[in-house]
Amino acid sequence: MPVVVQKYGGSSLATAEKIRVVAGKICARRSSGVDLVVVVSAMGDTTDDLIALARLASGPSHVPDPREMDTLLSTGELVTATLMAIAIRSMGHDVVSLSGPQAGVRTDSRHGSARIADIDTTRLKRELGSGKIVIVAGFQGLAETEDVTTLGRGGSDTTAVAIAAGLKASRCEIFTDVDGIYTTDPRLVPDARKLREIGYEEMLELASLGAKMNPRSIELGAVYDVEILVASTFEDKPGTLIHGESRMMEVRKAVTGVAVTRNVGKIMVRGVEDRPGVAAEIFEPLAEAGISVDVIVQNAGADGKADISFTVAEGDLDRALAITERCQSCSAGGVTGGRGFSKVSIVGTGMTNSPGYAARMFRALSAAGVNIDMITTSEIRITCIIDAPLVEKAARSLHRAFGLHEASAG
Ligand code: ASP
Ligand code: MG
Repeated sequence: MPVVVQKYGGSSLATAEKIRVVAGKICARRSSGVDLVVVVSAMGDTTDDLIALARLASGPSHVPDPREMDTLLSTGELVTATLMAIAIRSMGHDVVSLSGPQAGVRTDSRHGSARIADIDTTRLKRELGSGKIVIVAGFQGLAETEDVTTLGRGGSDTTAVAIAAGLKASRCEIFTDVDGIYTTDPRLVPDARKLREIGYEEMLELASLGAKMNPRSIELGAVYDVEILVASTFEDKPGTLIHGESRMMEVRKAVTGVAVTRNVGKIMVRGVEDRPGVAAEIFEPLAEAGISVDVIVQNAGADGKADISFTVAEGDLDRALAITERCQSCSAGGVTGGRGFSKVSIVGTGMTNSPGYAARMFRALSAAGVNIDMITTSEIRITCIIDAPLVEKAARSLHRAFGLHEASAG
């Protein structure tokens, strides 16, 4: 029998009633003649609640121990896995729940953000071989130290794709409260369309830009060639299939999606010396402070001076500003910071090696009266930083300009 790996997100499992509904779906799928491994997330906001409890227990002046934190957080997924097994058993199917360690998920020992090193599939295969549906607690694994680790927030997607890769499953199905991947945020652009399929690379860009998928799971899917279906748990609608470009049957649009990131802060450093080492001097302390810097623009030096601007998450702006102000090389021309920016990007592998997309993007933004503050590109993405209040207008105009509102390819 083919093996299918499914994953259900925490919002789909937030109550015992929802767990029973999902259990019914799992049983129906099993009866259709597949071997099933089902990865589950913690119920609703359980992970947040556990983090809050740990903070209370440790008191304001202490940080909870990372090893204990991981064991604590892993219990959220254990609760769902065991309840799911209980529900499925009540419906007459043979089932077993496994913790991440029992399911053979081996990780490095970075508590709180562990990486999967290997899936030992011995136990999984044994349970499947004995005819059971296997429920696996997502988001957790076992380090060589024999301590429980967690994979970082939203890590259950990664568990599911890794297990699918380990079992060479025919596909990994991710069920969530959205019914697929859209050409852009439907709350912002009413004519956003659901994509029937998308390539790994494009999905990776969109996921990094905030689409509701863990980028690590997409990366794993691409490396191990696991196709991933993203679909709604409770609505019976076709979802979006994420897979390799070469298998895309449709004539494809050059631009697949428009992504929007809000709450961007900007820092400008004027008149820094134009010599080796200055950029490192600015960005090293930010990296050490764990602040991720996004768009960086440096103009060509003139009179031995250059200006450098970069963006950070608005929430990091004050900290980033304080750190940058302390930088020796930045003192000459002055450092200023501003909030109230957004980032709008067009993404599509079809743009590679085809000139003109940047120009079309800039023309569309100008026609919508949107001023561009900063620009950056990758091979399959063009990103503009713009004023936050114009982001809706910008997204709508780009969505139209690149024909994403039309179902047909173009
Ligand atoms: N429960 C974990 C979290 O909320 C993992 C997951 O949901 O994927 O981050
Ligand atoms: Mg969750």
